[in-house]
Amino acid sequence: MDVALQETLKGLFQTKLNREMRLYLDTCARCGVCIEACHVYASRPEARYTAVGRAEVIRRLFRQYFKAEGGIAPWLGETIALDDPTLEKVYEAAYTCTGCRRCMTYCPFGIDTQMIQSIGKLLLIGADREPKLLTMLAVKDAATTEIYTETKADFETAMKNLEAEVIEKWRSEAGEKAIPVGAIGSDVLYVALAGKHSIIPAAAIMNAAQENWSLSYFEAVNFGAFVGNPEKTQEISARIIDEATRLGAREVAVCECGTAYRVLKHQIGSQPFEVISFVELIDRYLEAGRIRLRPGTLEGRVTYHDPCQMGRNGGVLEAPRRVLRHLGAEFVEMEPNRGDNWCCGGGGGLVAMGEKDFRMWSARVKADQVKATGASVVATACENCHAQLSDLNEHYELGTRVAFLSSLVADALAGRGRSHPGG
Ligand code: SF4
Ligand code: SF4
Repeated sequence: MDVALQETLKGLFQTKLNREMRLYLDTCARCGVCIEACHVYASRPEARYTAVGRAEVIRRLFRQYFKAEGGIAPWLGETIALDDPTLEKVYEAAYTCTGCRRCMTYCPFGIDTQMIQSIGKLLLIGADREPKLLTMLAVKDAATTEIYTETKADFETAMKNLEAEVIEKWRSEAGEKAIPVGAIGSDVLYVALAGKHSIIPAAAIMNAAQENWSLSYFEAVNFGAFVGNPEKTQEISARIIDEATRLGAREVAVCECGTAYRVLKHQIGSQPFEVISFVELIDRYLEAGRIRLRPGTLEGRVTYHDPCQMGRNGGVLEAPRRVLRHLGAEFVEMEPNRGDNWCCGGGGGLVAMGEKDFRMWSARVKADQVKATGASVVATACENCHAQLSDLNEHYELGTRVAFLSSLVADALAGRGRSHPGG
Protein backbone atom coordinates (compact mmCIF):
# COMPACT_ATOMS: atom_id res chain seq x y z
CA MET A 1 0.00 0.00 0.00
CA ASP A 2 1.47 3.36 -0.94
CA VAL A 3 2.01 6.18 1.55
CA ALA A 4 -0.62 8.42 -0.03
CA LEU A 5 -3.35 5.81 0.44
CA GLN A 6 -2.16 5.15 3.97
CA GLU A 7 -2.50 8.86 4.75
CA THR A 8 -5.97 8.97 3.20
CA LEU A 9 -7.09 6.02 5.32
CA LYS A 10 -5.64 7.56 8.48
CA GLY A 11 -7.62 10.69 7.67
CA LEU A 12 -10.82 8.65 7.29
CA PHE A 13 -10.12 6.87 10.58
CA GLN A 14 -9.70 10.25 12.24
CA THR A 15 -13.15 11.41 11.07
CA LYS A 16 -14.68 8.65 13.17
CA LEU A 17 -12.83 9.51 16.38
CA ASN A 18 -15.42 11.38 18.39
CA ARG A 19 -15.52 11.12 22.18
CA GLU A 20 -17.81 8.11 22.19
CA MET A 21 -15.70 6.17 19.71
CA ARG A 22 -12.47 6.92 21.60
CA LEU A 23 -14.14 5.58 24.73
CA TYR A 24 -15.13 2.36 22.94
CA LEU A 25 -11.64 1.93 21.57
CA ASP A 26 -9.87 2.71 24.84
CA THR A 27 -12.10 0.93 27.32
CA CYS A 28 -12.28 -2.80 26.49
CA ALA A 29 -11.10 -4.84 29.50
CA ARG A 30 -10.89 -8.03 27.40
CA CYS A 31 -13.11 -9.70 29.95
CA GLY A 32 -14.72 -11.83 27.25
CA VAL A 33 -18.28 -11.39 28.54
CA CYS A 34 -19.43 -10.54 25.01
CA ILE A 35 -17.97 -13.67 23.43
CA GLU A 36 -20.97 -15.98 23.76
CA ALA A 37 -23.34 -13.17 22.71
CA CYS A 38 -22.40 -13.30 19.04
CA HIS A 39 -24.50 -15.65 16.93
CA VAL A 40 -21.55 -16.29 14.61
CA TYR A 41 -19.38 -17.49 17.49
CA ALA A 42 -22.30 -19.39 19.02
CA SER A 43 -22.71 -21.19 15.70
CA ARG A 44 -18.97 -21.75 15.16
CA PRO A 45 -16.73 -21.05 18.19
CA GLU A 46 -13.60 -19.51 16.67
CA ALA A 47 -11.80 -16.50 18.20
CA ARG A 48 -12.04 -14.45 15.00
CA TYR A 49 -15.83 -14.60 15.25
CA THR A 50 -16.00 -12.93 18.65
CA ALA A 51 -17.00 -9.30 19.08
CA VAL A 52 -13.77 -8.55 20.92
CA GLY A 53 -11.67 -10.36 18.29
CA ARG A 54 -13.22 -8.34 15.46
CA ALA A 55 -12.77 -5.06 17.32
CA GLU A 56 -9.15 -5.87 18.08
CA VAL A 57 -8.16 -5.29 14.41
CA ILE A 58 -9.48 -1.72 14.62
CA ARG A 59 -8.08 -1.19 18.14
CA ARG A 60 -4.57 -2.15 17.02
CA LEU A 61 -4.75 0.36 14.18
CA PHE A 62 -6.00 2.95 16.66
CA ARG A 63 -3.03 2.30 18.96
CA GLN A 64 -0.60 2.40 16.06
CA TYR A 65 -1.69 5.75 14.65
CA PHE A 66 -3.59 7.61 17.33
CA LYS A 67 -2.01 6.57 20.64
CA ALA A 68 1.47 7.13 22.05
CA GLU A 69 2.37 3.41 22.19
CA GLY A 70 2.19 3.18 18.40
CA GLY A 71 5.27 5.35 18.12
CA ILE A 72 7.07 4.18 21.26
CA ALA A 73 6.65 0.41 21.58
CA PRO A 74 5.10 -1.15 18.47
CA TRP A 75 7.05 -4.40 19.15
CA LEU A 76 4.68 -5.16 22.05
CA GLY A 77 2.33 -6.58 19.43
CA GLU A 78 -0.49 -4.31 20.48
CA THR A 79 -0.36 -2.38 17.23
CA ILE A 80 -0.69 -3.21 13.57
CA ALA A 81 0.24 -1.31 10.40
CA LEU A 82 -2.17 -0.19 7.71
CA ASP A 83 -1.22 -2.48 4.86
CA ASP A 84 -2.83 -4.96 2.49
CA PRO A 85 -2.90 -7.98 4.86
CA THR A 86 -4.43 -5.76 7.56
CA LEU A 87 -7.17 -4.63 5.18
CA GLU A 88 -8.02 -8.28 4.55
CA LYS A 89 -8.51 -8.70 8.29
CA VAL A 90 -10.56 -5.51 8.39
CA TYR A 91 -12.81 -6.90 5.64
CA GLU A 92 -13.31 -10.20 7.41
CA ALA A 93 -14.14 -8.47 10.70
CA ALA A 94 -16.53 -5.96 9.15
CA TYR A 95 -18.40 -8.39 6.90
CA THR A 96 -18.77 -11.26 9.36
CA CYS A 97 -20.50 -8.87 11.75
CA THR A 98 -24.16 -8.14 11.06
CA GLY A 99 -24.14 -5.06 13.29
CA CYS A 100 -26.84 -6.61 15.45
CA ARG A 101 -25.36 -5.12 18.67
CA ARG A 102 -26.30 -8.11 20.80
CA CYS A 103 -22.75 -8.12 22.18
CA MET A 104 -23.17 -4.53 23.32
CA THR A 105 -26.01 -5.47 25.64
CA TYR A 106 -23.73 -7.98 27.39
CA CYS A 107 -20.63 -5.76 27.62
CA PRO A 108 -20.30 -4.12 31.08
CA PHE A 109 -19.08 -0.94 29.35
CA GLY A 110 -21.74 -0.99 26.62
CA ILE A 111 -19.10 -1.05 23.89
CA ASP A 112 -20.80 -0.74 20.50
CA THR A 113 -19.18 -3.23 18.12
CA GLN A 114 -21.24 -2.01 15.18
CA MET A 115 -19.85 1.48 15.69
CA ILE A 116 -16.29 0.15 15.86
CA GLN A 117 -16.85 -1.84 12.68
CA SER A 118 -18.10 1.33 10.98
CA ILE A 119 -14.45 2.43 11.01
CA GLY A 120 -13.49 -0.77 9.18
CA LYS A 121 -16.22 -0.24 6.60
CA LEU A 122 -15.09 3.33 5.98
CA LEU A 123 -11.46 2.23 5.55
CA LEU A 124 -12.55 -0.37 3.01
CA ILE A 125 -14.44 2.29 1.03
CA GLY A 126 -11.35 4.53 1.15
CA ALA A 127 -9.20 1.67 -0.16
CA ASP A 128 -11.79 0.76 -2.83
CA ARG A 129 -12.21 -2.69 -1.29
CA GLU A 130 -15.76 -2.59 0.00
CA PRO A 131 -18.40 -4.92 -1.52
CA LYS A 132 -19.00 -3.16 -4.83
CA LEU A 133 -22.60 -4.29 -5.08
CA LEU A 134 -23.50 -2.38 -1.90
CA THR A 135 -21.86 0.79 -3.18
CA MET A 136 -23.58 0.42 -6.53
CA LEU A 137 -26.97 0.09 -4.83
CA ALA A 138 -26.24 3.07 -2.55
CA VAL A 139 -25.25 5.25 -5.52
CA LYS A 140 -28.35 4.17 -7.42
CA ASP A 141 -30.62 5.00 -4.47
CA ALA A 142 -29.02 8.39 -3.91
CA ALA A 143 -29.37 9.22 -7.62
CA THR A 144 -33.16 8.78 -7.58
CA THR A 145 -33.43 12.38 -6.39
CA GLU A 146 -31.84 13.60 -9.63
CA ILE A 147 -33.98 11.45 -11.93
CA TYR A 148 -37.16 11.97 -9.89
CA THR A 149 -38.80 14.30 -12.43
CA GLU A 150 -38.11 11.85 -15.29
CA THR A 151 -39.42 8.75 -13.48
CA LYS A 152 -42.35 10.33 -11.60
CA ALA A 153 -44.95 9.66 -14.32
CA ASP A 154 -43.87 6.01 -14.75
CA PHE A 155 -44.06 5.47 -11.00
CA GLU A 156 -47.57 6.94 -10.85
CA THR A 157 -48.70 4.68 -13.71
CA ALA A 158 -47.23 1.61 -12.00
CA MET A 159 -49.08 2.48 -8.79
CA LYS A 160 -52.31 3.05 -10.69
CA ASN A 161 -51.95 -0.49 -12.05
CA LEU A 162 -51.52 -1.87 -8.54
CA GLU A 163 -54.66 -0.19 -7.24
CA ALA A 164 -56.91 -2.84 -8.75
CA GLU A 165 -55.09 -5.49 -6.70
CA VAL A 166 -55.55 -3.52 -3.49
CA ILE A 167 -59.26 -3.20 -4.13
CA GLU A 168 -59.80 -6.73 -5.42
CA LYS A 169 -57.77 -8.60 -2.83
CA TRP A 170 -58.76 -6.78 0.30
CA ARG A 171 -61.93 -5.00 -0.84
CA SER A 172 -60.39 -1.68 0.04
CA GLU A 173 -62.51 1.10 1.39
CA ALA A 174 -60.33 3.57 -0.43
CA GLY A 175 -62.94 4.76 -2.85
CA GLU A 176 -61.34 6.19 -5.95
CA LYS A 177 -57.74 6.40 -4.82
CA ALA A 178 -56.42 3.14 -3.41
CA ILE A 179 -52.76 4.21 -3.59
CA PRO A 180 -52.44 7.99 -3.29
CA VAL A 181 -49.04 9.29 -4.39
CA GLY A 182 -47.54 12.73 -3.72
CA ALA A 183 -50.62 13.99 -1.88
CA ILE A 184 -50.03 17.35 -0.23
CA GLY A 185 -51.24 17.63 3.35
CA SER A 186 -51.17 13.89 4.08
CA ASP A 187 -51.09 12.93 7.72
CA VAL A 188 -48.92 9.90 6.96
CA LEU A 189 -46.26 9.51 4.29
CA TYR A 190 -45.67 5.77 3.86
CA VAL A 191 -42.22 4.79 2.62
CA ALA A 192 -42.17 1.33 1.05
CA LEU A 193 -39.61 -0.99 -0.48
CA ALA A 194 -39.52 -1.96 -4.14
CA GLY A 195 -42.09 -4.68 -4.77
CA LYS A 196 -45.80 -4.85 -4.34
CA HIS A 197 -45.53 -7.03 -1.21
CA SER A 198 -44.43 -3.86 0.58
CA ILE A 199 -47.20 -1.68 -0.91
CA ILE A 200 -50.45 -3.64 -1.33
CA PRO A 201 -50.97 -4.91 2.25
CA ALA A 202 -49.99 -1.52 3.69
CA ALA A 203 -52.36 0.30 1.32
CA ALA A 204 -55.22 -2.03 2.26
CA ILE A 205 -54.59 -1.50 5.98
CA MET A 206 -54.31 2.31 5.76
CA ASN A 207 -57.39 2.52 3.56
CA ALA A 208 -59.37 0.33 5.95
CA ALA A 209 -58.32 2.72 8.74
CA GLN A 210 -59.45 5.63 6.54
CA GLU A 211 -56.05 7.18 6.93
CA ASN A 212 -55.17 10.40 5.12
CA TRP A 213 -51.99 8.97 3.64
CA SER A 214 -49.70 9.11 0.66
CA LEU A 215 -47.10 6.75 -0.78
CA SER A 216 -43.55 8.07 -1.06
CA TYR A 217 -41.91 8.19 -4.47
CA PHE A 218 -38.76 6.86 -2.88
CA GLU A 219 -37.66 3.49 -1.54
CA ALA A 220 -37.03 3.14 2.17
CA VAL A 221 -33.92 0.97 1.92
CA ASN A 222 -30.63 2.67 2.76
CA PHE A 223 -27.66 0.87 1.23
CA GLY A 224 -25.45 3.75 2.32
CA ALA A 225 -25.91 2.51 5.89
CA PHE A 226 -25.17 -1.11 4.93
CA VAL A 227 -21.90 -0.25 3.23
CA GLY A 228 -20.96 2.25 5.95
CA ASN A 229 -20.85 5.35 3.78
CA PRO A 230 -22.00 8.32 5.93
CA GLU A 231 -22.46 10.70 2.97
CA LYS A 232 -24.61 8.29 0.97
CA THR A 233 -26.60 7.44 4.12
CA GLN A 234 -27.44 11.13 4.50
CA GLU A 235 -28.21 11.65 0.80
CA ILE A 236 -30.54 8.64 0.69
CA SER A 237 -32.34 9.81 3.84
CA ALA A 238 -32.55 13.38 2.51
CA ARG A 239 -34.80 12.29 -0.39
CA ILE A 240 -37.47 11.18 2.06
CA ILE A 241 -36.96 14.10 4.46
CA ASP A 242 -37.34 16.61 1.60
CA GLU A 243 -40.42 14.87 0.25
CA ALA A 244 -42.10 14.68 3.67
CA THR A 245 -41.35 18.34 4.27
CA ARG A 246 -42.61 19.34 0.81
CA LEU A 247 -45.88 17.45 1.30
CA GLY A 248 -46.28 18.74 4.84
CA ALA A 249 -46.61 15.19 6.20
CA ARG A 250 -47.15 14.96 9.93
CA GLU A 251 -45.66 11.48 10.19
CA VAL A 252 -43.41 9.25 8.11
CA ALA A 253 -44.26 5.56 8.46
CA VAL A 254 -41.37 3.32 7.46
CA CYS A 255 -42.26 -0.06 5.98
CA GLU A 256 -40.98 -3.37 7.33
CA CYS A 257 -37.27 -2.62 6.97
CA GLY A 258 -35.30 -2.48 10.22
CA THR A 259 -32.32 -0.52 8.95
CA ALA A 260 -34.42 2.07 7.11
CA TYR A 261 -36.46 2.60 10.28
CA ARG A 262 -33.46 2.92 12.58
CA VAL A 263 -31.59 5.30 10.28
CA LEU A 264 -34.57 7.63 9.85
CA LYS A 265 -35.80 7.42 13.43
CA HIS A 266 -32.59 7.34 15.42
CA GLN A 267 -29.52 8.13 13.38
CA ILE A 268 -29.94 11.27 11.32
CA GLY A 269 -31.14 13.82 13.85
CA SER A 270 -34.57 15.29 14.52
CA GLN A 271 -36.95 16.16 11.68
CA PRO A 272 -40.04 18.37 11.32
CA PHE A 273 -42.20 15.21 11.41
CA GLU A 274 -42.52 12.08 13.52
CA VAL A 275 -41.02 8.80 12.34
CA ILE A 276 -42.92 5.61 13.09
CA SER A 277 -42.55 2.02 11.98
CA PHE A 278 -45.46 0.60 10.00
CA VAL A 279 -45.96 -2.05 12.68
CA GLU A 280 -46.53 0.71 15.25
CA LEU A 281 -49.08 2.28 12.91
CA ILE A 282 -50.98 -1.02 12.62
CA ASP A 283 -50.89 -1.33 16.41
CA ARG A 284 -52.32 2.17 16.76
CA TYR A 285 -55.18 1.39 14.36
CA LEU A 286 -56.04 -1.81 16.20
CA GLU A 287 -55.91 -0.26 19.65
CA ALA A 288 -58.10 2.66 18.50
CA GLY A 289 -60.57 0.35 16.75
CA ARG A 290 -59.83 1.92 13.37
CA ILE A 291 -59.42 -1.53 11.83
CA ARG A 292 -60.80 -4.89 12.87
CA LEU A 293 -59.48 -8.34 12.10
CA ARG A 294 -61.37 -11.53 11.42
CA PRO A 295 -60.32 -14.17 13.94
CA GLY A 296 -59.23 -17.57 12.69
CA THR A 297 -57.49 -16.42 9.50
CA LEU A 298 -54.17 -17.54 10.93
CA GLU A 299 -54.03 -21.15 11.98
CA GLY A 300 -51.38 -23.04 13.92
CA ARG A 301 -48.70 -21.80 16.29
CA VAL A 302 -47.09 -18.44 15.55
CA THR A 303 -43.82 -17.00 16.79
CA TYR A 304 -42.23 -13.59 16.27
CA HIS A 305 -38.66 -12.77 15.28
CA ASP A 306 -37.58 -9.35 16.63
CA PRO A 307 -35.51 -7.68 13.89
CA CYS A 308 -32.33 -6.34 15.57
CA GLN A 309 -32.56 -2.84 14.09
CA MET A 310 -36.22 -2.50 14.96
CA GLY A 311 -36.29 -4.26 18.32
CA ARG A 312 -33.02 -4.17 20.26
CA ASN A 313 -31.73 -1.09 18.43
CA GLY A 314 -35.00 0.63 17.59
CA GLY A 315 -37.15 0.02 20.68
CA VAL A 316 -40.15 -1.46 18.80
CA LEU A 317 -40.78 -4.47 21.02
CA GLU A 318 -44.36 -4.63 22.26
CA ALA A 319 -46.34 -3.31 19.26
CA PRO A 320 -45.74 -6.42 17.11
CA ARG A 321 -46.84 -8.67 19.97
CA ARG A 322 -50.05 -6.71 20.48
CA VAL A 323 -50.74 -6.95 16.75
CA LEU A 324 -50.22 -10.71 16.80
CA ARG A 325 -52.58 -11.07 19.76
CA HIS A 326 -55.31 -9.38 17.66
CA LEU A 327 -54.88 -12.13 15.08
CA GLY A 328 -56.02 -14.58 17.70
CA ALA A 329 -53.59 -17.39 16.86
CA GLU A 330 -51.61 -19.41 19.40
CA PHE A 331 -48.53 -17.29 20.07
CA VAL A 332 -45.25 -18.63 21.40
CA GLU A 333 -42.14 -16.57 22.16
CA MET A 334 -38.72 -17.48 20.87
CA GLU A 335 -36.20 -17.83 23.66
CA PRO A 336 -34.46 -15.47 24.13
CA ASN A 337 -36.60 -12.68 22.71
CA ARG A 338 -37.10 -8.91 22.48
CA GLY A 339 -33.81 -7.06 23.07
CA ASP A 340 -32.00 -10.32 23.72
CA ASN A 341 -33.16 -12.08 20.56
CA TRP A 342 -30.59 -13.82 18.36
CA CYS A 343 -29.86 -11.99 15.12
CA CYS A 344 -31.24 -13.71 12.01
CA GLY A 345 -27.73 -13.58 10.54
CA GLY A 346 -28.61 -11.57 7.45
CA GLY A 347 -28.02 -7.97 8.52
CA GLY A 348 -25.20 -5.57 7.75
CA GLY A 349 -25.70 -5.93 4.00
CA LEU A 350 -25.13 -9.72 3.95
CA VAL A 351 -28.48 -10.60 2.37
CA ALA A 352 -28.03 -8.01 -0.38
CA MET A 353 -24.51 -9.30 -1.04
CA GLY A 354 -26.09 -12.62 -1.92
CA GLU A 355 -23.41 -14.93 -0.52
CA LYS A 356 -25.23 -17.75 1.26
CA ASP A 357 -22.73 -20.16 2.76
CA PHE A 358 -21.61 -17.90 5.62
CA ARG A 359 -25.14 -16.69 6.29
CA MET A 360 -26.37 -20.26 6.69
CA TRP A 361 -23.71 -21.72 8.98
CA SER A 362 -23.35 -18.56 11.08
CA ALA A 363 -27.09 -18.57 11.88
CA ARG A 364 -27.33 -22.19 13.03
CA VAL A 365 -28.21 -20.91 16.47
CA LYS A 366 -31.12 -18.93 14.98
CA ALA A 367 -32.41 -21.97 13.14
CA ASP A 368 -32.27 -23.97 16.40
CA GLN A 369 -34.16 -21.19 18.17
CA VAL A 370 -36.95 -21.20 15.57
CA LYS A 371 -37.18 -25.00 15.61
CA ALA A 372 -37.53 -25.06 19.40
CA THR A 373 -40.73 -22.98 19.22
CA GLY A 374 -42.52 -25.64 17.15
CA ALA A 375 -44.23 -22.75 15.31
CA SER A 376 -45.72 -23.23 11.88
CA VAL A 377 -45.54 -19.49 11.15
CA VAL A 378 -42.62 -17.16 11.86
CA ALA A 379 -43.79 -13.56 11.69
CA THR A 380 -41.36 -10.70 11.35
CA ALA A 381 -41.29 -7.04 10.37
CA CYS A 382 -38.11 -6.62 8.34
CA GLU A 383 -37.34 -7.41 4.71
CA ASN A 384 -33.79 -8.57 5.46
CA CYS A 385 -34.94 -10.84 8.28
CA HIS A 386 -37.74 -12.21 6.10
CA ALA A 387 -35.26 -13.12 3.33
CA GLN A 388 -32.75 -14.64 5.73
CA LEU A 389 -35.36 -16.59 7.73
CA SER A 390 -36.81 -17.93 4.47
CA ASP A 391 -33.34 -19.14 3.45
CA LEU A 392 -32.81 -20.69 6.90
CA ASN A 393 -36.21 -22.34 6.70
CA GLU A 394 -35.19 -24.04 3.48
CA HIS A 395 -31.57 -24.79 4.43
CA TYR A 396 -32.36 -26.30 7.85
CA GLU A 397 -35.72 -27.76 6.75
CA LEU A 398 -37.58 -26.01 9.54
CA GLY A 399 -40.99 -26.59 7.98
CA THR A 400 -42.33 -23.13 8.83
CA ARG A 401 -43.87 -20.30 6.84
CA VAL A 402 -42.14 -16.92 7.14
CA ALA A 403 -44.57 -14.01 6.94
CA PHE A 404 -44.58 -10.23 7.18
CA LEU A 405 -46.79 -8.88 9.96
CA SER A 406 -48.43 -6.46 7.50
CA SER A 407 -49.41 -9.27 5.20
CA LEU A 408 -50.91 -11.35 8.05
CA VAL A 409 -52.95 -8.32 9.13
CA ALA A 410 -54.05 -7.44 5.59
CA ASP A 411 -55.22 -11.02 5.03
CA ALA A 412 -57.37 -10.77 8.15
CA LEU A 413 -58.83 -7.29 7.56
CA ALA A 414 -62.47 -7.06 8.50
CA GLY A 415 -62.76 -3.38 7.72
CA ARG A 416 -63.87 -0.71 10.17
CA GLY A 417 -66.75 -1.18 12.54
CA ARG A 418 -68.49 -3.79 10.41
CA SER A 419 -67.92 -7.35 9.22
CA HIS A 420 -65.68 -7.99 6.28
CA PRO A 421 -67.81 -8.40 3.17
CA GLY A 422 -66.27 -11.75 2.43
CA GLY A 423 -65.86 -12.99 5.96
S1 SF4 B 1 -22.72 -6.79 16.54
FE1 SF4 B 1 -23.70 -8.84 16.42
S2 SF4 B 1 -22.62 -9.90 14.75
FE2 SF4 B 1 -21.36 -8.12 15.35
S3 SF4 B 1 -19.93 -8.94 16.88
FE3 SF4 B 1 -21.68 -8.13 18.03
S4 SF4 B 1 -23.04 -9.91 18.31
FE4 SF4 B 1 -21.59 -10.45 16.67
S1 SF4 C 1 -17.59 -7.50 27.10
FE1 SF4 C 1 -16.91 -5.41 26.56
S2 SF4 C 1 -15.09 -5.10 27.81
FE2 SF4 C 1 -15.46 -7.32 27.81
S3 SF4 C 1 -14.26 -8.11 26.06
FE3 SF4 C 1 -16.30 -7.67 25.28
S4 SF4 C 1 -16.15 -5.59 24.44
FE4 SF4 C 1 -14.39 -5.88 25.82
